[in-house]
Amino acid sequence: MPYSHKEHPICADLHTHTTASDGSLTPTELVHAAAARGLSVLAVTDHDTTAGIREAAQAAQAVGIRLVPGVELSAEGPPGKCHLLGLGIDSENDGLKRTLAELSESRRTRNDRMAGRLRALGVPVTLEEVAAVAPPGANIGRPHFAELLVRRGIVGSLPEAFNRFLGDDAPAYVPKDVLSPAAAIALIQAAGGLAFLAHPGLVRLAAHETPETRLSALQQRGLNGVEAYYSQHTPAQTERFLRIAEKLGLLVTGGSDFHGSPKPDVPLGVVYDGHALPLERLPVELRAGLAT
Ligand code: AMP
Ligand code: ZN
Ligand code: FE
Ligand code: FE
Repeated sequence: MPYSHKEHPICADLHTHTTASDGSLTPTELVHAAAARGLSVLAVTDHDTTAGIREAAQAAQAVGIRLVPGVELSAEGPPGKCHLLGLGIDSENDGLKRTLAELSESRRTRNDRMAGRLRALGVPVTLEEVAAVAPPGANIGRPHFAELLVRRGIVGSLPEAFNRFLGDDAPAYVPKDVLSPAAAIALIQAAGGLAFLAHPGLVRLAAHETPETRLSALQQRGLNGVEAYYSQHTPAQTERFLRIAEKLGLLVTGGSDFHGSPKPDVPLGVVYDGHALPLERLPVELRAGLAT
């Protein structure tokens, strides 16, 4: 159904990344870009960190945008690997901060091991060099290793870095410590947020699963909703996830997964049908908390 920004002045993008994880814009730059695009509501959902929230909230207040504090947690374990979006969290919540700090600490150990593996493969890199390509305060991970390999000319592109060295099936890969889906959902909710399955169309399902069985299994573990609207979903996927959400009684959210230059074909605020998400596309429960 076509719609215009004029008819729907309150538009949202509820899934974005900043330099606090692997995006290329600082929280302030992201908020300014959102304002320039005409967004009214923006959620910052960095991977496994809330380090960008405070700055984003200050910038949002200055430009008159509603900032939804969020986080995107990587989870593994029953019923399967997935990303969980926490929206409306208290980013200063003690339990949340403590758990995210522990995950960050374990990343350091993992990065050390990945650097060791790369050296064993004949690619001389140190953690200091990886850290040097990451923005200050970033949660360092594989994207930064990949960036370093490109800058060094060891590979020609970021995808090649993952294919040859860093991807899940590649030789320098070391798995990271992650929360189970149940633990991630509980952590988000204990911090006052709602937990959504991120980009359900990108979730790898086992042979015996369907999107509905996966969502149902997560719902049994406390899941509140699903990111039915997502920049990379086809209209058919969006319709399918909306139907499942309605059937199971799950909330619905939507976002672009904007990263800036690391994902150049994913523009900010383009969520569904080439537009940002009008608030009326969201369920009343979520909308109520977002409309100021
Ligand atoms: P990490 O949390 O350190 O394991 O890094 C995960 C991030 O690496 C993901 O969010 C992606 O941005 C990126 N990534 C993972 N696998 C690939 C891949 N095959 N190609 C490109 N980027 C990838
Ligand atoms: Zn990312
Ligand atoms: Fe994700
Ligand atoms: Fe994301």
